[in-house]
Amino acid sequence: MTAHVTARVIDGKEIAAALRARIAERTATLPFKPGLAVVLVGENPASAVYVRNKDRAAQGAGLLAQTIRLPADVAAADLLAVIGGLNADPEVDGILVQLPLPDGLLPRPIIEAIDPAKDVDGFHPLNVGRLQDGLDVLAPCTPTGVMRLLSAAAIPIRGARAVVLGRSAIVGKPMAALLLAADATVTIAHSRTVNLAEECRRADILVAAVGRPEMVRGDWIKPGATVIDVGINRTRDGSLVGDVAYEECGAVAGAITPVPGGVGPMTIACLLENTVKAAVNRRLAHHN
Ligand code: NAP
Repeated sequence: MTAHVTARVIDGKEIAAALRARIAERTATLPFKPGLAVVLVGENPASAVYVRNKDRAAQGAGLLAQTIRLPADVAAADLLAVIGGLNADPEVDGILVQLPLPDGLLPRPIIEAIDPAKDVDGFHPLNVGRLQDGLDVLAPCTPTGVMRLLSAAAIPIRGARAVVLGRSAIVGKPMAALLLAADATVTIAHSRTVNLAEECRRADILVAAVGRPEMVRGDWIKPGATVIDVGINRTRDGSLVGDVAYEECGAVAGAITPVPGGVGPMTIACLLENTVKAAVNRRLAHHN
């Protein structure tokens, strides 16, 4: 028997479009165009698609976007020199180096070379640390997008039990930090967690970021819970599925995000939001 989705579906496309429109309104009031520079090393086809989408969304929101393309065999020193140039460029407010980098280039020294004030991905250790301290920072875009979705859907966070499935530096850990800063009681689960289903069943808010197609099943969900699916997995037939078995979980949850059309569109919108925030902080805030 197939389960029917009775949960409220949180429409990330619509919420992201509204956020992009708000960003465009904000940039229209600024005396300058916030500048975003995306550095793309090599020819990874998925990365090329992301970068094109970022570029289009940035232009649409009134930002000044540029993409710097470098060959896959670029020397680390040359990549560092490009970043140094962007750090020094007063028209550039946000710098993003598209990951993954080609084999042979270690991401850490590259990320650490970005000026933390321009680190719109929120991966620089200074921003990571400040986020853990509960400070207002440039936080990673995907978990920030999840927070925006929860807020737009009016899901209560304070005092809620949140379970974050996955502990990556890009999604799981910053997600947990943002939920904690919003006063949730947070559990981080991962591949060594014992009784994963039981942990998930305790969650009022479950965020899945594992990269395993449809791993989270209907009987892992507390009735009425909010289920946020960060996963993007391509199946053999080329379609996209999340980390959550959507039909099954949507029959038990109170609210759920679809894949595609849930968290995905929020990531780019939050990148634009971070770029405007970085621009205002750099160019205006310290003059007030
Ligand atoms: P990742 O770096 O591979 O991390 C995956 C995490 O899941 C790890 O912490 C891992 O645990 C845990 N995990 C793996 N298998 C597990 C299992 N069987 N049981 C419990 N935990 C398990 O992935 P990521 O970068 O965080 O991305 C996660 C997913 O989100 C992927 O599908 C990715 O495509 C998607 N994503 C989407 C967006 C978006 O814009 N929507 C952005 C980024 C990522 P260990 O630490 O113990 O290995």
